[in-house]
Amino acid sequence: MKAVCVYCGSSPGARPVYAQAARAFGQALADAGLALVYGGGRVGLMGTIADAVLDAGGRVIGVIPKLLVDKEVGHTGLTELHVVPDMHQRKKMMADLADAFVAMPGGAGTLEEFFEVYTWAQLGYHRKPVALLNVDAFYDPLIALLRHTVDEGFMRGTYFDALCIDAEPAALLDQLRHYRPPALDKWAPDETE
Ligand code: AMP
Repeated sequence: MKAVCVYCGSSPGARPVYAQAARAFGQALADAGLALVYGGGRVGLMGTIADAVLDAGGRVIGVIPKLLVDKEVGHTGLTELHVVPDMHQRKKMMADLADAFVAMPGGAGTLEEFFEVYTWAQLGYHRKPVALLNVDAFYDPLIALLRHTVDEGFMRGTYFDALCIDAEPAALLDQLRHYRPPALDKWAPDETE
């Protein structure tokens, strides 16, 4: 594992715990020698985690669509900043550059990005780990909803189990390192069912 893609809010969130977690996770990535791949902006938690990695001497690769360079205030101090034509190319490039995906707290954009790579894993488009950094139980309601989709027969338990979840950056990175992708893809018959 060389690079981790982090999806997170373009807002700072209502409480300081979120920025603290972004700084801690940035520091943990740099300490582990892992590059950060992210949306390339300077706003919200995105900017906080990028600055934390850079301050700790790590590498940061940003990928931002042309239209958002002003809105999300494209970060000018990154190791690499790729300005791409649109959101689709942003997401594709971020996915290609990273060896693992982590969602920190964020809004609709963060959730959309998380669900895209999570569902791509289910469909077998990639075999990289997908994770939630569950800062201060932020993702508990989402985790409960995902369990509900399994209980109600809309998702295989294997895919719920494949999701890496931890509140602590170092423990989460450890899970990513030891990740084994599920053997099945979504449409293969499951002998255990
Ligand atoms: P948010 O979590 O809504 O603050 O957004 C976090 C990041 O997700 C920002 O970089 C947004 O540009 C990005 N984003 C917003 N909407 C989408 C979308 N539909 N697809 C992919 N990324 C998005």
